Amino acid sequence: MTDTIFHKIIRREIPADIVYEDDHLIAFRDIAPQAPVHVLFVPKTDIATLNDVRSDHAVIIGRLAVAAAGYAKAQGLAEDGYRLVMNCNEYGGQTVFQLHLHLLAGAQLGHFGT
Ligand code: 5GP
Repeated sequence: MTDTIFHKIIRREIPADIVYEDDHLIAFRDIAPQAPVHVLFVPKTDIATLNDVRSDHAVIIGRLAVAAAGYAKAQGLAEDGYRLVMNCNEYGGQTVFQLHLHLLAGAQLGHFGT
């Protein structure tokens, strides 16, 4: 099992601006926001990257999306829209090796791909 900064946040060993938590996941504001709203949704189950996702993790991944969409709706972000992103490994730009879903919102986001 890898221990990452996100595991430390889950264990309350380092501070974070937590906006949501339940038995399965935690959500907190990104320390270096890339949009006016930038929240990370992190499962409490150890999964390092999308490469490690198995079929029995489907519910966990689904919970991240449900929580992020629910948060966006509750914060009044849903109508204007938002972006959900998961980065995988080096080319994807992943820097923390505990799976997480980025919610980016609050401004017009640019197109991407390069
Ligand atoms: P990745 O690049 O792995 O997809 O996303 C990792 C994210 O975690 C980055 O956006 C980065 O700013 C954020 N991050 C890294 N360390 C911390 C931290 O200690 N606290 C918080 N809240 N976010 C962090």
